Amino acid sequence: MEKTLVILKPSAIERGLVGEIVGRFQQKGLIIAGMKMMQLDERLLREHYAHLVDRPFFPLVLASMMASPVIVMCLQGVDAIRVVRLMTGATNGREALPGTIRGDFSVSGQENIVHASSSVEDAEIELKRFFAPEEIYDWTPQGIRFMYSPDEA
Ligand code: ADP
Repeated sequence: MEKTLVILKPSAIERGLVGEIVGRFQQKGLIIAGMKMMQLDERLLREHYAHLVDRPFFPLVLASMMASPVIVMCLQGVDAIRVVRLMTGATNGREALPGTIRGDFSVSGQENIVHASSSVEDAEIELKRFFAPEEIYDWTPQGIRFMYSPDEA
């Protein structure tokens, strides 16, 4: 099974969407392997969004991501990285399809509710960036046999 990083951004926290979003992931069948609240700082965000630091809007991204504490999650499942990205939707909430988290809860290119790792390589790096090893739990839900066939999981 894969593990992926999700960040519930300040736009999710401030707008009271945490329960709704965590619920969507659980209802889908993703396993919560880690979850905590933290305040992001500029050093961490410059590392996390290194591909954006030279973009003119980067100061706005920094301010947006530090506006309140965030919730970081490690979600586990077969193909979890792709599944979570599909559930997240396109970056710009105005273009994200209805039914996706951004499509249902965001009208913004920046205030788009969640971050989700985009590749196997990124997920591994990002999970190490936000979690200590002991904060990620390897456990299997009792009901796993009703979530996957024996040859899937
Ligand atoms: P994604 O979050 O979908 O993986 P990116 O890695 O390209 O997308 O961007 C990271 C975050 O930076 C986005 O989720 C969004 O909050 C912000 N962002 C990206 N592009 C823009 C933009 N053109 N204007 C404002 N904010 C942006």
